Amino acid sequence: MDLKPTIGIETHIELNTNTKMFCRCKVVDTEEPNISLCPTCLGLPGALPVPNGKAIEYITLLSLATGCKITRKGMFHRKNYFYPDLPKNYQISQFDLPVGEGGELEIILDGKKDSVEIERVHMEEDTGKSTHSGTGRIDAATSTALDFNRSGIPLVEIVTKPVIQSAKEAVAYIEELRQLSIDLNISEGKLEKGNLRFDANISVAPSDSNELGTKVEIKNMNSLRSLERAIDYEISRQTKAFLDGEEIIQETRHWDESKELTSSMRSKEGSADYRYFSDPDLPNMILSEIFIEDIKNNLPKLPSQKRNDLIETGLDLEQANILGKSDIWIVELYSEVFSKTKEHSSTYNWITGELQGQMRKLDINFPPEWFSAELLSEIIELIKENKISFTSGKTILSEVLQKNISVDEVATNNDLYQENNEEKIVELVKKVINDSEDIVQRIKEGEDKLVGFLVGQVIKNSGGSVNPGIAKELLSKELKL
Ligand SMILES: [Zn+2]
Repeated sequence: MDLKPTIGIETHIELNTNTKMFCRCKVVDTEEPNISLCPTCLGLPGALPVPNGKAIEYITLLSLATGCKITRKGMFHRKNYFYPDLPKNYQISQFDLPVGEGGELEIILDGKKDSVEIERVHMEEDTGKSTHSGTGRIDAATSTALDFNRSGIPLVEIVTKPVIQSAKEAVAYIEELRQLSIDLNISEGKLEKGNLRFDANISVAPSDSNELGTKVEIKNMNSLRSLERAIDYEISRQTKAFLDGEEIIQETRHWDESKELTSSMRSKEGSADYRYFSDPDLPNMILSEIFIEDIKNNLPKLPSQKRNDLIETGLDLEQANILGKSDIWIVELYSEVFSKTKEHSSTYNWITGELQGQMRKLDINFPPEWFSAELLSEIIELIKENKISFTSGKTILSEVLQKNISVDEVATNNDLYQENNEEKIVELVKKVINDSEDIVQRIKEGEDKLVGFLVGQVIKNSGGSVNPGIAKELLSKELKL
């Protein structure tokens, strides 16, 4: 029997506001625990929440950027549950009136445009952080430390419809969402810091069925690698269980990266278990037409638009997607160099290949301050005009990344300019032909590949200053090939 997997993803994005969601405590990025706290984010009795306007603006921004319809009259709800890292016993969230509903995000899958439907975008607040002693797993811990710096940091939760069909598609979706959050400047988008955390709901059902299978939720992943492997694992686990006639239990499972498997955490609470009710301490949230229009009119360039702009320079979709998801300085460098050279392909290759490769070798994250689009454009132009070889271009790039020196100086000091005087090259070619009677004879008898050897001799005799293409062309002419 053919089975099809169906996946829905819930992503929490930590917003990069200065202060927390319902108090004026600063959002801090530190290992030092419990330094940014107040009665509100500790959930002490009597403390009253005041919503963070910037966070609401960011959530509206993300809703609009994903094409969601905005709920003008929204509401805050209490999601009730007890956990040591949630001392007020409930989390303020949104229930039936999220900020945004019914959107769509363009993704790039297998080199083609695709899209993922968005069900809703709503506000949440983060909990504190529990650190279990020992292995980090609660079941083996003897003690747990609590840090409330994270308690009350604004999150936006973005929920897809159950429309994703593979782990690869899920990864493409998260890559796009991450880039969107960076381009909207609502999050740092750093997965390793937990800025984005995702839960995946996975089920399998017969391909011809319109019903979805029993869903299993995998909680709290924050790397693309975990997401991909956990989904793949869960699809094969459920497929096997289904084919063996075993019942698939609706539950929450944990992905264990070291063991490479999911294990049961708890049977799933239904939403009723959270006893949602509207927060009596917070008034309804009315988003005015002007507020929404203002955000809409000031939307920054979205990843999909950035891709289209890059495609217009000549890049293909895949290249535009890779470049568009690179650091902003890389995208800007590409645009500047392209505007000078008009060479999309070599500009792309030099930036994504050689430049970044050399920077990795030099162990630097940014080019030095003297490095500019002009320097790289000059190298690309010199190669295009056959004035230097590709290899010399790499040498020059390496030098200008390490010291403040001009392209011309490096080329002159290292004698990298190629000889393009045809008469001189013909002279060299004739000499090589005269000195290599045997080889010439063999070439005439059909050993074409020996031409390359003679080209090498010409270059060698010129001290490396002759362009190989020109040498080959003139050799062929002299040998009447
Ligand atoms: Zn606080």
